[in-house]
Amino acid sequence: MFHYLKLTMTKNKIIVEKKSTKLNSKFVCDKCNKKKVITLNYGPHNFCKKHFNIFFENRFKKTIRKYSLFKSKEKLLIAVSGGKDSIVTLTLLNKFYSKSNPIEVLIIDEGVKNYRNKAIKIAKKTCKKLGVKYHIISFKKRFGITNDEIMPILLENKKLGGTCAFCGVMRRNIMNNFARKMKADKLVTGHNLNDEVQSFVMNVFNNEIERIIRSGAKPGIIKHNNFVKRIKPLYETPEKEIIAYCAFNNIEHYSQECCPYSWTAKRNEYREMLNKFENRFPGNDYSILRFYETLKKKITPTKNEKEILQKQLKECSICGEPTEKKICKTCELIQKMKNEKKIKKKNKITKNTKKFIKKNKLTCAITKYNK
Ligand code: SF4
Ligand SMILES: [Zn+2]
Ligand SMILES: [Zn+2]
Repeated sequence: MFHYLKLTMTKNKIIVEKKSTKLNSKFVCDKCNKKKVITLNYGPHNFCKKHFNIFFENRFKKTIRKYSLFKSKEKLLIAVSGGKDSIVTLTLLNKFYSKSNPIEVLIIDEGVKNYRNKAIKIAKKTCKKLGVKYHIISFKKRFGITNDEIMPILLENKKLGGTCAFCGVMRRNIMNNFARKMKADKLVTGHNLNDEVQSFVMNVFNNEIERIIRSGAKPGIIKHNNFVKRIKPLYETPEKEIIAYCAFNNIEHYSQECCPYSWTAKRNEYREMLNKFENRFPGNDYSILRFYETLKKKITPTKNEKEILQKQLKECSICGEPTEKKICKTCELIQKMKNEKKIKKKNKITKNTKKFIKKNKLTCAITKYNK
């Protein structure tokens, strides 16, 4: 008998199961004669722990080379939440590039009680263990408002927009602002293959061609002194394998309850749909990513078009971040929120909203370990 990990993505959950079976030739690693511990259906590949680690780490390094994500000596600022993706990004960058590149970490505290504080604890612990310098910036400090204060307002006034859309805009504002202040050459995020494929399909469904052009392993089309280039070394790495890598290598990450507001994200619907396809037709996610890369080459703006876009950029009159308007999207949203908050006096959450949050708490991409 031997044991292996079975990874299944179901409705917004990734199930990691320990399985046992009798040994035969089907259960041997593709690279050596040891027992396999994982099967990657899109290959299909069967690997023992050692050869899975090599495969996983080589793809990480290959993604960096293939998309020219950064050069030697460039300063890297990694946005770390404490979740599996950012912790693995930090672990591998530190393992392979800490001698060639200065590395620091940015931890953003969105202000979500009973959730963010637990993840931040793990992020800080990992940085200390690896000897990487970290900085914590909170929504409260930068914008004077927390997610816990914003979300009830959004939940009761649907016209204002989605919760994660707000949170995402504010996080990007902090990341760019802080990366620029600390003179980072690249801002690293932990987005994985599944995140990217979901975003692409969402943008197709929402007819968001501009967003499609701006996405990718190195998102953004305009070079500007005030923009720090973002990069995604896990761009070609499936989420399931990140979980397996953490499990095989005892990498601690936050994997309990997810953000209580995540259930409002439309992305959950796309995740569920795409996971279903990937389970039925292994390799589907890679196929979508390849299509996206081919498409992107054909629709990338010309040099002239980029110059025009560049000229339209100004500095936000409130926070100084680059924007096409007088004030940037983040400041516009924050002002809207603060006005709403005043109207709603002490930001009282109605009973209905409280009930709704409680009921929908666990519907995001939570990892379940069935041992
Ligand atoms: S789930 Fe949404 S609201 Fe919660 S931290 Fe993530 S982006 Fe922000
Ligand atoms: Zn092997
Ligand atoms: Zn601004």
